[in-house]
This record gives sequence, structure tokens and C-alpha cells, in this order.
Amino acid sequence: MTKKVSRIGVLTSGGDAPGMNAAIRAVVRTGLYHGLEVFGIMRGYQGMIEEDIFKMEGRSVANIIQRGGTILKTARCKEFYEAPGRKKAYDNLKKQGIDGLVIIGGDGSFRGAVKFSKEFDMPCIGIAGTIDKDIHGSDYTIGFDTAVNTAIEAIDKIRDTMDAHDRIFIIEVMGRDAGYIALHSGIATGAENILIPERKTNIKDIIESLQEKEKRKKLVNLIVVAEGDEFGGANEVQKVLKENLPNAEIRVAILGHIQRGGSPTGIDRLIASRMGYHAVECLMEGKHNVFVGILNNKMHYIPLEKAVKNKGGISEEWMKIVKILAS
Ligand code: ADP
Repeated sequence: MTKKVSRIGVLTSGGDAPGMNAAIRAVVRTGLYHGLEVFGIMRGYQGMIEEDIFKMEGRSVANIIQRGGTILKTARCKEFYEAPGRKKAYDNLKKQGIDGLVIIGGDGSFRGAVKFSKEFDMPCIGIAGTIDKDIHGSDYTIGFDTAVNTAIEAIDKIRDTMDAHDRIFIIEVMGRDAGYIALHSGIATGAENILIPERKTNIKDIIESLQEKEKRKKLVNLIVVAEGDEFGGANEVQKVLKENLPNAEIRVAILGHIQRGGSPTGIDRLIASRMGYHAVECLMEGKHNVFVGILNNKMHYIPLEKAVKNKGGISEEWMKIVKILAS
């Protein structure tokens, strides 16, 4: 294969996700395998602007595949939104002789990369590192499976105590715009109700079924809520329920950042490794501005500007499963 690049940079940007390290490792090792020089860029676009860039070797990524977080750190970078910031970033890359980039991040990071690559001659390849799974063009995003499994572990524990006391528990999981974590963790823990931003919730139905349970003295109920649901999260849902069930014990647990941390699951390590490997292959082939996803277990490439938030991904069938299995 003729090489189209010789010195590549890799960075993690935006929200962090477990498995990003496995992706960095794959990019570095695949690049070195092909005889490329590989540079780590610290703190996403911020490190490009501040020239916080260092050469990576095979051993730079030893013993990180199992670690959460990202050894390259991540950041949100205001300057990169503006043309002068992006110019500074480009000048620094040129100074280092970098002629291709792998960006591990979410749709915001890809929007930045699309702008950057339109202004300057710098091929950019995107890999989805986000726990939210809401990127068009891939069945998987790095970190989602880990976040779901962390949520499941926590919810199972809460269910034990909920069950012992006959309580209603409302558990809030991450997902400002996307309900995938709530949906997957809710189904996997047998939640009676799952509230997500993509669907309107029939709160009247929920209240009626809880009142019914209360009458039968069987008021144990698990509700999983995505933080971005129409009510605005678990505390708000609790208020609405309290108004209608004044005597019920209704508890809230907000899982928060534990969902971002921890050792990535096998699936996340595997998809990160595959995506990292293929991102470098794309650069080697001279591809520009491509998003590397996985659809139906096959690598899938779309233009980076199409790797936007996937809003319509939750089908009615999933909602039906929730309802039937909880009844
Ligand atoms: P994520 O990649 O997780 O969606 P953000 O939306 O915060 O996270 O994006 C990460 C970074 O990408 C931003 O801090 C900014 O530096 C850059 N970025 C995002 N959107 C744009 C844009 N429209 N133009 C230029 N840069 C952008």
C-alpha cells in the first residue's frame, strides 16, 4: 500500500468515555506497524492550539487497554470555534510535520474537525467516543457498553434495597439528548418505567398504575429516567409523583459520573481496537474526512459531516418490549 501520510496525530476531545485509551492504543500501534510516526495531542483541540504534542512509541500505550479515562486527556476548547484558533492549531501541526489526524470524540468534535479540514489541507478521521451512543453511522460508540453495565450494576443494588422496603425508586442515568443508556439499562434491570427524551411520557398512566399498586399494598416500582427527559430528570419526576401519591415513599438516586469511569467492557475494548485500526488504514489510503463506524458488525464509512447526532434511533418496538416485560 502506498502511504499517503507519514506523521499522524491522535487526540481525544469533548466528553470522555471508557475505551478511549483502547482506541488510542490501536491508532498508535497500527501507525507504527505501517512505519508512520505517531504523535499524541493533549487535551483535544486545546493541545493543538498550545502545541502540547509529543511523539508516541509502542510502549507509550502499554498497559492502557483496560483503563478508563484517556491518557491524552480531553477538553472543551473555546478557541477552536473561531478561525484564528483553528489557524494556530494548523500552524502547530505543520510545524511538527503532521499530515493526518485521528479524532476520538463526539459529534461536536466532528463538527470542529469538518470546519478545520475545509479550511486546511489536513485529512481528519473520526471515531465515536461517547457514552451516549447517539451518533449516526454506527451501531456502537466507544464507552456506551461500559456505561450501561455500570448503570446496571448500580440499579441492581438499588433494587435490592427498594424491594426490601416497598419503595418507589427513580434512578437517573446520563443522557441529555439521548435515552439509550436509560433504555438499555432499564430493560436489563427490569424497570417498570423508562423515561427518555425521544418519547413523550404518559405520566397519567404511570400515576394510575402506582395508585393501583398502592391500593394492593404492593408499591414497589423502579423508574429509570434519562437526565434529559421531558420533566428534567429524576428530582422533577419525584415532585410530580409526590403530588399524586402523598403517602408513598419515593426515593431518587442520580448515578452521575460513575457512568463515565471504570474499566471498559470487552465490547468497548474490541470496538475501540477495530475502529482505531481502521482509522489509520483510512489515512494510509488517502481518505479525507471520514467517520469510521460499525454497522451490522462490519466497518462502515461515511463522510465526517454526516456523523451527526442520531435522534430517531429508538423504535416503537423497544418501547413495547419495556411495557410488556414490566407488566
Ligand atoms: P463532543 O465531541 O463530546 O460532542 P463538544 O460538543 O464539547 O463535545 O465538542 C468538543 C470540542 O469540539 C469543542 O470544545 C470545540 O473545541 C470543538 N467544536 C465543537 N463544535 C464546533 C464547531 N461548530 N466549530 C468548531 N469547533 C467545534
